[in-house]
Amino acid sequence: MRCPYCRHADSRVVDSREAEDGQIIRRRRSCPECGRRFTTVEEAVLAVVKRSGVTEPFSRSKIIAGVRKACQGRPVDEDAIAVLAQKVEETVRARGAAELPSHEVGLAILAPLRELDEVAYLRFASVYRSFDSLQDFEREIAALRAAANRPASATQHQAAPSQGERAAEPVG
Ligand SMILES: [Zn+2]
Repeated sequence: MRCPYCRHADSRVVDSREAEDGQIIRRRRSCPECGRRFTTVEEAVLAVVKRSGVTEPFSRSKIIAGVRKACQGRPVDEDAIAVLAQKVEETVRARGAAELPSHEVGLAILAPLRELDEVAYLRFASVYRSFDSLQDFEREIAALRAAANRPASATQHQAAPSQGERAAEPVG
């Protein structure tokens, strides 16, 4: 890793620390040329494969932009959208795959968005699932009504995996 201060071509790792539950590693580096220290962050790249076959890195800000659009005019604040995007990232990273199709990212957005705001959910679902008839909306609204009648504890459990489930995920 090149030194950001003097551009020296090499640097030495003096400390490595896991962060965010082992998903990233921070390395403290020292430049042998100028002696200054800097930090690098290492994170596994999660690739999203679009329908066209083009691959791009997973981007939390893209999730935020898409959800924000669906939430336009709705009583949903930026913090809630940021939390949702983080949930989506945790969900897709928990699969343990190095790449995943874009429609799986969309699916991961739908569940938490439904809990956040039903109108925003319908908007997002209508685009994402290409609703092309009134029946599509009617079916989705019927599903929302059915979900509203379910006990709240069931949906909460779905949204937040327990510690035990996290521990069972494959590492690496
Ligand atoms: Zn340097």
